[in-house]
Amino acid sequence: MTDTIFGKIARGEVEADLVYEDEDVVAFRDLSPQAPTHLLVIPRKPIRTLSEAGAEDAELLGKLLLVAAKVAEQAGIARGGYRTVINCNAGAGQTVFHLHLHVLGGRALQWPPG
Ligand code: 5GP
Repeated sequence: MTDTIFGKIARGEVEADLVYEDEDVVAFRDLSPQAPTHLLVIPRKPIRTLSEAGAEDAELLGKLLLVAAKVAEQAGIARGGYRTVINCNAGAGQTVFHLHLHVLGGRALQWPPG
């Protein structure tokens, strides 16, 4: 697969404002925040997009959600409410083809999203 900027961030080759990391997952602030708090949670494993994740990734996908909840709590947006989003493929707005989960909060969020 082709490498992406998130692969480089996961390997520490490109700087990011990290808020969490462990052996499987890295979370950092989005460069172009769409809410007062906008974090990205990524697996170190370079899965291109959600629809390419396999059964072998089940535990890792669960961990991404748990880390999202943890960083939301740490960022102080859990009580006020936050949204997690995965844009899957270009038609849904995915621009970086390394699976990532957006965590957005700190303001009122509209529904449905655009
Ligand atoms: P997507 O549109 O693929 O769901 O989300 C990609 C996100 O990555 C966007 O919100 C964009 O602002 C963010 N982003 C793109 N390049 C970088 C980067 O180099 N560093 C960080 N921290 N965020 C990035």
